[in-house]
Amino acid sequence: MDYKELADLIFPNAKPIEYYEKMYPERDLPEGAIVTRYAPSPTGHMHIGGLYQALCSKMAATKTKGVFFLRIEDTDQKREIDGADTEIIDSLKEFDIIPDEGMISSDEWKGNYGPYKQSLRKDIYESYAKYMIEIGKAYPCFCTSEELEEMRVKQENAKIRPGYYGVWAKCRNLSLDEMAEKIKAGVPYIIRFKSDGREDRKIEIHDGIRGKVIFPENDLDIPIIKSDGLPTYHFAHLVDDHLMRTTMVIRGDEWLASVPLHVQLFQEAGFKPPKYCHISPIMKNDNGNKRKLSKRKDPEAAVSYYEEIGVPPEAVKEYLLNIANSSFENWRRQNKDKSIYDFDFQISKMSVSGALFDLTKMLDDSKAIISRFSAEKVYNEGYKWAEKHDIELKKLLDQKDYALKVIGIERGKEKPRKDIAKWSDLKDNIIYMFEEPKEFDFDKINGEEAKKVISEYMKLYDENDDKQTWFDKMKDVAEKCGYAREVKKYKANPEKWPGHVGDVSTVIRVAITGRRNTPDLYEILQVLGKDEVMDRLSKFTN
Ligand code: GLU
Repeated sequence: MDYKELADLIFPNAKPIEYYEKMYPERDLPEGAIVTRYAPSPTGHMHIGGLYQALCSKMAATKTKGVFFLRIEDTDQKREIDGADTEIIDSLKEFDIIPDEGMISSDEWKGNYGPYKQSLRKDIYESYAKYMIEIGKAYPCFCTSEELEEMRVKQENAKIRPGYYGVWAKCRNLSLDEMAEKIKAGVPYIIRFKSDGREDRKIEIHDGIRGKVIFPENDLDIPIIKSDGLPTYHFAHLVDDHLMRTTMVIRGDEWLASVPLHVQLFQEAGFKPPKYCHISPIMKNDNGNKRKLSKRKDPEAAVSYYEEIGVPPEAVKEYLLNIANSSFENWRRQNKDKSIYDFDFQISKMSVSGALFDLTKMLDDSKAIISRFSAEKVYNEGYKWAEKHDIELKKLLDQKDYALKVIGIERGKEKPRKDIAKWSDLKDNIIYMFEEPKEFDFDKINGEEAKKVISEYMKLYDENDDKQTWFDKMKDVAEKCGYAREVKKYKANPEKWPGHVGDVSTVIRVAITGRRNTPDLYEILQVLGKDEVMDRLSKFTN
């Protein structure tokens, strides 16, 4: 019995790897183009860290005119959650991080290197496992779980490193004939990698984010095909990233310790390993302590949270880029209208200690981003959100022409309004334009004084006044009621007047809107229209 015969015995129907090598040729891309991927396991809801990874990968690929693809890694079928794969696909779509290739539904994909879902690639893994046996780099292992458990206990008691290696790797030393006999007799088995590594030797790896990292070589004969016939993650990574011609693997740093094994697998198989970039987890400042953003403790860790509270996907993405590359913020300031994909993203500039995530900061940035949206865009996105989450807001927005005017107040200007961070803020910021306010907290000027201001204002108010005339009239009202016409004059001699024109316009603002802070009052009055303005004001004078 030789390796080839053993391989044929185990995988009689597997195609030679040349078949797949030809089917998935080297990609014809410009020099320096990065082929990378997002390769999540469908085992739960999408985490903001996953979106971060996908975004950074897409940035790296797009910048180099390379390829970004989505691969669903579902070989651990016990941990799989129904619908998690489509949730991933939908999230990427929602955030407009569209893969060039990959799964587009549970069972369909686009691109020439598919299927991009591991459970659909069983035949391919078998071919490569067969190849590994043929070249003497893999073998069948017949150890039962009881035997493995016994071995583990022995190792633990003797305080030695656990695992299937060296003298512990029992099946490795069976002769090929012994292996064949057991297989023919129907003894169950898995396939293991045959490692030539030595734990006392070091391997040096250059990580694209962390720089030089040194690890002991891998000497474990890890399983490559499990008893269910599916590959382990490590082996699937080898086969998939080889055949999909990945040049850069960008992934979470929980995989950093596996790099010695991964590089070894590529080398032993005779393939070129990709470049590895390990992203540190996103961190959060928790009362002065920096800790990982946690799915359990932090609602903002779930990607769905942003849709629920209505933060626009653009804002989430821009914020993630801010924490990925600190130069992004400056670039954005200078390039307000460019696409994020024009930014010169540098994977090597990502933080090793973990980017700090601050929801308040994201919402602040979001205000600035929404302030640059057109009224139509605010309306459309707000409406889409309201349909799902706030039926009262939807009712307001159903008066489309009027709602557009309301949303258009102080928009499209040099300094647009910045009061909306998320669609769940929208109702509160426009409601007074639809319903008369019920509570009024006049600041300085109260009671009879306020009444006087309002009635003087009503005498002068003319809907057709331009802004300057309107404001001059406000000054006239101030003067008439005994307040300073100009804030400056008032400040120079504050003892001379009980207040100034600003206090007077606050009275009008509060009487009309119930609030002291609103966007431009002149525009508010214009949109409300004369009848409504007079109606609201006359309540105070009657
Ligand atoms: N399926 C792995 C995970 O979800 C991906 C690791 C990789 O990108 O290589 O963590």
